Amino acid sequence: NRIAIAIDGPAGAGKSTISRLIAEKMGIEYIDTGAMYRAITLKLINKGVDISDIQKVKDIVNSTKVELVNGRVYLDEIDVTEEIRMPYVSAKVSDVAAIPCVRERLVHLQREMAKKTSVIMDGRDIGTNVLKDAEVKIYLTASVEERAKRRYIELKNKGIDVTFEEICNDIKNRDNIDTNREVNPLRKADDAVLVDTTGKSIQQVVDEIISIIKE
Ligand code: C5P
Repeated sequence: NRIAIAIDGPAGAGKSTISRLIAEKMGIEYIDTGAMYRAITLKLINKGVDISDIQKVKDIVNSTKVELVNGRVYLDEIDVTEEIRMPYVSAKVSDVAAIPCVRERLVHLQREMAKKTSVIMDGRDIGTNVLKDAEVKIYLTASVEERAKRRYIELKNKGIDVTFEEICNDIKNRDNIDTNREVNPLRKADDAVLVDTTGKSIQQVVDEIISIIKE
């Protein structure tokens, strides 16, 4: 029997770390939908597209290949796994993700992926829109300070030069755009379980979610 698990929440709540671990533990597929929005954003940046030119954005989005394979992200067959995490992509991704034709295309791809196999999918609109019928829905959150701190350490460890303030501003800016956009804004689904990860270890959160899944 196929199972779908939806994990939503704001930037830096730990969605991808936790989802990856749970996927491994359960032997199911992990789908990072944020990576897909980031890949499209990278393409639009590389092509120098003015994102207010909706027709141009549409043409590009519909002729772009975005694939997730073994934890790697491919944009038109090129591995962009590292590049899409760079601050210059983060700074633009929420504006791109607010464009209806971008969401339409990626949501379609995400649903196709979930039809094939059991998945844990993380994002902003998975429980409310992409996989409305998911068997388990989690809304993962943490204080903004903690989320910024985690993201800061993560980027520093990758050798990316950022200040804590820049990360804090990026997170607040994205949360603001993601919760206020017109199409499928970031929301906790009514039937999602709220999990606050502030002050908890990764293992504690994984255990907590596994026990929710087992219920
Ligand atoms: O998950 P991550 O922080 O990498 O997502 C990057 C951005 O992609 C988010 O800030 C949001 O604007 C967008 N996104 C979205 N819907 C999703 C996943 C991500 O709008 N399901």
